[in-house]
Amino acid sequence: MSNQIPVQNITPPPKKDTTTVDLYASREKIYTRAFTGIFRNLRMAGGALLFLLYFGTVWLDWGGHQAVWWNLPERKFYIFGATIWPQDFILLSGLLIVAAFGLFFITVFAGRVWCGYTCPQSVWTWIFMWCEKVTEGDRNQRIKLDKAPMSANKFVRKLGKHSLWLIIGFVTGLTFVGYFAPIRELVIEFFSGQADGWSYFWVGFFTLATYGNAGWLREQVCIYMCPYARFQSVMFDKDTLIVSYDPRRGEKRGTRKKEVDYKAQGLGDCIDCTMCVQVCPTGIDIRDGLQIECIGCAACIDACDTIMDKMHYPRGLISYTTEHNLSGQVTHKLRPRLIGYAVVLLVMIGLLAGAFFMRSLVGFDISKDRVLYRENAEGRIENVYTLKIMNKDQVDHTYVLDASGLPDLKLQGRREFRVPAGEIFSMPVELSSAPEQLPSSTNEVIFSLKDADDSSSHVEAKSRFIGPQIR
Ligand code: SF4
Ligand code: SF4
Repeated sequence: MSNQIPVQNITPPPKKDTTTVDLYASREKIYTRAFTGIFRNLRMAGGALLFLLYFGTVWLDWGGHQAVWWNLPERKFYIFGATIWPQDFILLSGLLIVAAFGLFFITVFAGRVWCGYTCPQSVWTWIFMWCEKVTEGDRNQRIKLDKAPMSANKFVRKLGKHSLWLIIGFVTGLTFVGYFAPIRELVIEFFSGQADGWSYFWVGFFTLATYGNAGWLREQVCIYMCPYARFQSVMFDKDTLIVSYDPRRGEKRGTRKKEVDYKAQGLGDCIDCTMCVQVCPTGIDIRDGLQIECIGCAACIDACDTIMDKMHYPRGLISYTTEHNLSGQVTHKLRPRLIGYAVVLLVMIGLLAGAFFMRSLVGFDISKDRVLYRENAEGRIENVYTLKIMNKDQVDHTYVLDASGLPDLKLQGRREFRVPAGEIFSMPVELSSAPEQLPSSTNEVIFSLKDADDSSSHVEAKSRFIGPQIR
């Protein structure tokens, strides 16, 4: 008989170190369920419009060239009937400011509708998700496929998905570069190997950027990379439209049989089917309250409304609402901040439109030659200048030059210049005066340029006429 005492290890397991917080959470892949509904249709309409504008506009011609074209070598921006020159780039800055105020106004009024319906990141991601569904099947099939070991079927499906993503990425990249290099020539040169190296580089870059952002990064772009997502929550107030779950109606959530009186069981309208979570492109549960990850796409509204219809409950358990509404208070549609943004927006649109339509369509510059003056055979004092005329219009113009400011001033040589649309014309011009008619050794002269076809178009430039010292 053994006299050994049986020993049991009673050392408690080490306590979890609660002072260490993991700052990095690895991404869990989101398998989004496909769904239908009013808001999905609205989103598709917004996406289709954006696609049409993006892929269609680049092929339009206007006034003999591409309608929208950043002509970087010549530093001109064509936008339909207008040409924006470097001197007019302040207008583009104004346009960006107007767009920013427009976005602020929309955000205060309707939350993240831009993100959910028209942001290119969202629209391209929805398209990529559709490719995923076509090649790999619905949500459950995709989960199963990812868990399965590699097989011919899996390989072909994955290959199909990535090929579709790359094709869309390539067409997107080529179109983007087409806004900077005329698309018709670019396409021909690109496929015949004649395009320059930079064109190949940028098309490749934007192909991969589209493939990476819409295929792989997806919601991470919205959550971690987009600056607008970060600061727009400070623009929200209690009357801003948000996508929200109504806990007063939904809780206590739980499964139930249709025929059983669930209210008697203390249950709310939420049957805890998790459809709202499964359709969410950012993988959140809207029932946990408003979260920064929510892009306001309303997919969860469509999903939940479908469930409510099936259960014969009223729609709207998840809906567009406001914090005031949720807490039983009145929503104020017109409020000072919203009115303030609207007023600023209207004023800025007015100023921008005024600046755009009143901008001069002729650029005029006179610079004096470095030689101070010379005396010609007739004993007159001559000054030479370089004249520069920019025809910023889309049609040719004839301009008439004149000079004034001195009693005996004469403009020598040509006075009329025909300048083709969008061209810069440059040539030397000479002024002369009898020396005894000069009031001083340095005198102000005024050059004026008139449009021969439009008497209201008239620009002036000042310069100096230099003569000998007067004793
Ligand atoms: S879809 Fe509606 S019913 Fe289903 S879990 Fe979400 S909130 Fe509840
Ligand atoms: S919670 Fe709803 S509205 Fe927000 S991102 Fe998810 S599905 Fe879209």
